[in-house]
Amino acid sequence: MHMDAPSGDAHANLPSGDMHTGEGSGGRHTGRRSAEAHVDARSGDAHADGSSGDAHADGSSGGGHASGRSADPHADAPSGDAQGDGRSGGGRLLLAGCDTGLTCGPEAAVPLMIAAAEAFLDERPDDAPLAWRIQELENGPARITARLTTNPDVRALTSGPITGPTIQHPTNDPAIGPAIQAATNDSAHGLRRAGRVVQRDGRVALEVLVPLGRLTPAQLRVLADSGPAVRFTPWRTAVLLDLSPAEADRAERALADAGLVTDPASPWAGVTACTGRPGCGKALADVQADARRWVEGLDRAPETPVHWAGCERRCGLPRGRVVEVIATGDGYRRQPQ
Ligand code: SF4
Repeated sequence: MHMDAPSGDAHANLPSGDMHTGEGSGGRHTGRRSAEAHVDARSGDAHADGSSGDAHADGSSGGGHASGRSADPHADAPSGDAQGDGRSGGGRLLLAGCDTGLTCGPEAAVPLMIAAAEAFLDERPDDAPLAWRIQELENGPARITARLTTNPDVRALTSGPITGPTIQHPTNDPAIGPAIQAATNDSAHGLRRAGRVVQRDGRVALEVLVPLGRLTPAQLRVLADSGPAVRFTPWRTAVLLDLSPAEADRAERALADAGLVTDPASPWAGVTACTGRPGCGKALADVQADARRWVEGLDRAPETPVHWAGCERRCGLPRGRVVEVIATGDGYRRQPQ
């Protein structure tokens, strides 16, 4: 789920670009009250998230930042969930990439996304296979929108006329900003990101992949010492800004020595994993250790991104074409085969 504006005013955003609901570490929650809202003061983004595993609005796989959009609940923006454009001085709510017709000002973006997350939880049937993401719920965007539009609290949040649950895919409407593309496997979606970019001012930005999104204290120190500014992205990367070419050379060597990935062709490119054991009580395997062992046996990046997950929930699943390796308790199931 994603609310944003072309200028990036408000996002719901996490590492895989969607909104999830479901079971957190250690048991099942229906805990919609644990949905949280954050505002990132540095980026100006607004996040609705449920770190406890109850409800996330996230967009890790491209949640609407400069390089692309990708949201869903799991709400995310190219398949996106809630996004806002600049019309009416606010944003519009996208659910799994569908324009709900609901608009609001920046101050109402987070409450509206939380209301959408709660509506998702309310719409999930108890007697059917669990939908972890809006896109996995049959007619999810329409059902959630219908629930929202009849909620007086939500009506008070929205800024424009409520047109009803006329779900439209906004991806090809030039009036509302750049096209929202289905995620692909290119760098714009965070799956193969590493290397240098020349800034408009001629200086260099250096992006490094952080294997499995885990930074050690030593790696953090090297990052902090390697340039004047570091930005962390939702795509498990860090970007050093404002380097001279010579500084970029030095930084690249130091970061590679510290175990960070500067080569876009590295076997790590495109490999992601959820928390797994021991950090998550739901995990059926230590997926991070298994993913590391698997990567160590590769001599180049996998052709299709690969996501390792400790259970069927598949936290952190990137958008687009992905090979999923899911722990079963008796090994792993790969899909597609
Ligand atoms: S996908 Fe991974 S992190 Fe998510 S609940 Fe399952 S084991 Fe835990």
